[in-house]
Amino acid sequence: MTNYEIKQIMKSKNVQYLYHANTVKTSTTFLENGGLISRGAVNDLGLVQTPQISDETDREFNVDYDIFFDSVDIHERAKKINNYGPVTFVYSIDVIDALPEGCIKITKTNPMYWNQNMTEEEKYFTNYVDLRNNYEKGNFNQHFTITNQRQPLTFDYLCKIILDDPHAIRQADQRIFEQAVNYINEAVIEKNINVPLVIRKCPMGCHCSEQYNNFREGYIYYRFGIDC
Ligand SMILES: [Zn+2]
Repeated sequence: MTNYEIKQIMKSKNVQYLYHANTVKTSTTFLENGGLISRGAVNDLGLVQTPQISDETDREFNVDYDIFFDSVDIHERAKKINNYGPVTFVYSIDVIDALPEGCIKITKTNPMYWNQNMTEEEKYFTNYVDLRNNYEKGNFNQHFTITNQRQPLTFDYLCKIILDDPHAIRQADQRIFEQAVNYINEAVIEKNINVPLVIRKCPMGCHCSEQYNNFREGYIYYRFGIDC
């Protein structure tokens, strides 16, 4: 499949944006280094990122140099926190125009559920007809991935950054949230990133605030902290 074909299918399914969620700490690495960076490249470059439970399987299935996106804003859709973190980078689908041919792969399931016996066709959409017929906007398992990325993916096609408001009950947590807001705002200006930081307005009935405040103490710190 060519990038053009992939983009046509995405647009026909009304996918206008690609969403990448992460912690504030990992996001500071992105902001300071000019773009989203694959987990493998963050390690190679000696930069910092929050550990993820999927790190081992990512290496096992050779996806640790891939940058993962969703076709919808999972927090908005699921009305709960995104487990990958409270910062959401929103890219225009036009980012496809800037990518080399062959680096886009779209998963059929999350690599956490893969096993060694699975074929490429079981892991990914490998042809036009399959993608056109079976790709669903909003399917949380079907990840748009930009593979084998050793350098940052620039912010040229970034439209905005969304940050969750945890509505923190503890004052210490509220301070951590405010520090994150200030930090991102300053980085966006200092690095000429030229997109707005939007504090998330949750949909009716969203559970994130109770999740943030009821998880173990320190949870907000590890999601929102700059230096944790
Ligand atoms: Zn929410």
